[in-house]
Amino acid sequence: MSLEPCKVCGTLNAAETEICLSCGYPTQGRKRPAIFRWVAIALVVCFALPFLSGIINWILLQLQPESPPPSQSAVSLVQSRPITLVVSTDK
Ligand SMILES: [Zn+2]
Repeated sequence: MSLEPCKVCGTLNAAETEICLSCGYPTQGRKRPAIFRWVAIALVVCFALPFLSGIINWILLQLQPESPPPSQSAVSLVQSRPITLVVSTDK
């Protein structure tokens, strides 16, 4: 059982320990504490959620048929033609 000094705080830790018992720095050097993984996942989720919501909204807009034009304009066009015809025939 050998002791290795921590790279950050210099505390002697057992070689078997993966994380410094004093400061939590990984003594193996390569392994990261689990909190970094969770922070990375949280950052990815924070960036991915607005992106995914935008894609979902776009897909919903594509799936839905375009909103029909307001019926009032079509009705007014239909109604305006007979009126103009009547006016023209009177003259
Ligand atoms: Zn340490």
